[in-house]
Amino acid sequence: MLDVPGWPGHLAGQHVDVRLTAADGYSTQRSYSLAAPTNGDRLELTVQKLADGEVSPYLADVLSAGDPVEIRGPVGGWFVWRSTDTEPVLLVGGGSGIVPLMAIVRTRRAAGIRTPVRLIYSVRSPADVYYGDELRRPSRADDGVDVTFVYTRATPAQWPEPPRRIAIADLEAGGWPPDFEPSCFVCGPTGFVEVVADMLVALGHDPRRIKTERFGPTGG
Ligand SMILES: Cc1cc2nc3c(=O)[nH]c(=O)nc-3n(C[C@H](O)[C@H](O)[C@H](O)COP(=O)(O)OP(=O)(O)OC[C@H]3O[C@@H](n4cnc5c(N)ncnc54)[C@H](O)[C@@H]3O)c2cc1C
Repeated sequence: MLDVPGWPGHLAGQHVDVRLTAADGYSTQRSYSLAAPTNGDRLELTVQKLADGEVSPYLADVLSAGDPVEIRGPVGGWFVWRSTDTEPVLLVGGGSGIVPLMAIVRTRRAAGIRTPVRLIYSVRSPADVYYGDELRRPSRADDGVDVTFVYTRATPAQWPEPPRRIAIADLEAGGWPPDFEPSCFVCGPTGFVEVVADMLVALGHDPRRIKTERFGPTGG
């Protein structure tokens, strides 16, 4: 959680750039999606700690309550969803790519609307699931949000199939037929996003309705 006095507000799907500067002046930045709808001056991020990463271990383990960080944002005008959008929504997330998709689910909830949403969440194992309580035990306000999990390395006990990568059948079973003209949002590691976007096009979804966000390495 970051408190940013005077925050102008943001849309679901946007991100911020977080800049860290060391005492010797060395500085680096990374992008992080906003995980929740606008809530006054308070921002929520969800950071996956990469063991060999430069910034994410610092944010996850070192940064403490009250420490200042420099941020820039909100950033992004394409990978966004507005609660006034009426088309059915398909969300496909891989790993931490769930973060901006969760902002969409939460924005829908906060607006009290019933736009039908289908979420397909590809994740390594049950322990790696972010927002598990919210996604597995949805509140009444989440009626109309259907969630499908795909486990790539380890499944929950009694899961009906072994771990595997997301497949076209998942997008057919857990998504919308192209005729419904859904807005598709795909987010995750670059390879994941490209595979899923290609599968959606192969299923007949209009590429103009497929918005992608690649969580590849950023910074510099
Ligand atoms: C628009 C946008 C939004 C993002 N939102 C989020 C978010 O909400 N939550 C989040 O945790 N991350 C998010 N990311 C990824 C984030 O910006 C960083 O890339 C990530 O935290 C790694 O930074 P690092 O400094 O720890 O690792 P680095 O020091 O940059 O890299 C360490 C190693 O990890 C690899 N690597 C870098 N990024 C990733 C990655 N995303 N997945 C797997 N391997 C990687 C590198 O190639 C390198 O081998 C987002 C990226 C973009 C472009």
